[in-house]
Amino acid sequence: MVTTATVAAWITRYAAIIDENEALLTELDSPIGDADHGANMARGMAAAVPGIDAVPTIDAQLKQVGMAMLSKVGGTSGPLYGTLFLRAAMALGARAEVASSEFAEALATGAAALAERGKADPGDKTMVDALAPAVAALERALSEGHGFADAAAAAFEAADAGREATTPMLARKGRASYLGERSVGHTDPGATSAAYLFRALQEVA
Ligand code: ADP
Ligand code: MG
Repeated sequence: MVTTATVAAWITRYAAIIDENEALLTELDSPIGDADHGANMARGMAAAVPGIDAVPTIDAQLKQVGMAMLSKVGGTSGPLYGTLFLRAAMALGARAEVASSEFAEALATGAAALAERGKADPGDKTMVDALAPAVAALERALSEGHGFADAAAAAFEAADAGREATTPMLARKGRASYLGERSVGHTDPGATSAAYLFRALQEVA
């Protein structure tokens, strides 16, 4: 089961990881972007956390995170992460606990909506390169009968491999795509912040 306590711990931990790595995310966004991904994510997640442990249902928690990302982040990543959380919330309905598989399915729905909104495919060197394999690994591990902690660990492993795989890619979406060949050899900042989402999930699962 995934409960409101799980989600509160996950989001709180994610915000802390973002905070600890704000400078790194900005550094990654310097050569292939405009050096604001760290500040964008830190601002959005700082607004997502207050009161999250008192929100009574999982969908309302995820909606709080999505609205914070949408309203506080000026960059491309705000509406994209906003879509991920808001669509995951819509998939769940007002409940205080859900089966792990339903939670995984909701995250997969959110990740698919994000990819659709960004018109990004795997291999385009975006956050989708971390998110898509992570939600697939989460769902696969649960369907094979693994517990939530093991499934979250598999999801993080897939997300982190996806993040790393963006380094040699040629960017086809977002600001990095303006650089063409010069985008090659740099790890995508959004794929890095997306991998942290699953690092946080693994840590609290
Ligand atoms: P901005 O590019 O507006 O400055 P951020 O720096 O916060 O916004 O976020 C950049 C990240 O957003 C990129 O590293 C990439 O992962 C992600 N991104 C950009 N465009 C897209 C897109 N069309 N689809 C999916 N992800 C995207
Ligand atoms: Mg940027």
